[in-house]
Amino acid sequence: MTSEKFAGRGEAKGARRAVFLDRDGTINIEKDYLYRIEDFEFIVGVPQAIKRLNEAGFLVVVVTNQSGVARGLFNQDQVEKLHRHIQQELDRVGARIDGFYLCPHHPTEGIGEFRLDCPCRKGKPGMLLQAAVEHDIDLSRSFMIGDKMADVEAGEAAGCSSLLVLTGYGKAESEKLEKDRVGVFADLAQAVDSVLVENT
Ligand SMILES: [Mg+2]
Ligand SMILES: [Zn+2]
Repeated sequence: MTSEKFAGRGEAKGARRAVFLDRDGTINIEKDYLYRIEDFEFIVGVPQAIKRLNEAGFLVVVVTNQSGVARGLFNQDQVEKLHRHIQQELDRVGARIDGFYLCPHHPTEGIGEFRLDCPCRKGKPGMLLQAAVEHDIDLSRSFMIGDKMADVEAGEAAGCSSLLVLTGYGKAESEKLEKDRVGVFADLAQAVDSVLVENT
């Protein structure tokens, strides 16, 4: 690494734009503590929506709270195996996720080392901040799409524009949202349409 490049760290904004996606209830049908491949189902239109983001030059990064790991219901290897399956299914339509980040913690229900008030659990922005460093992302020109207030809050805390989808817990969560705080869309496909209309 050159000294000039090193000196610029911390001030330089990343070069890439990203769309951060929540997983459960946004990409796939919400099922409590999903980890089995056979239980995974894409919400209609999601693989094609991810492909449209790929083609428009956005990085697509999944950021997911998996307190089931903290609770001892499944382990991180099982989550990563499911994520490889998701990637393989997307491959079939020529779509791609550029990175998966997971928070395995819970501040009160976690067992052992996983009981942690961590910086990565959404509504905190830790996973987005880490991805920004690792993938050279300009957060101020990036988006966070999810079905919960914690997604909206994590996106806002990271300096992104947040969008709420009405799939998963989105309908109930939208009632907690102040009017006009963020864009609200029927599903990921419609949220992506909105991102692409305004930003390409
Ligand atoms: Mg969700
Ligand atoms: Zn965490």
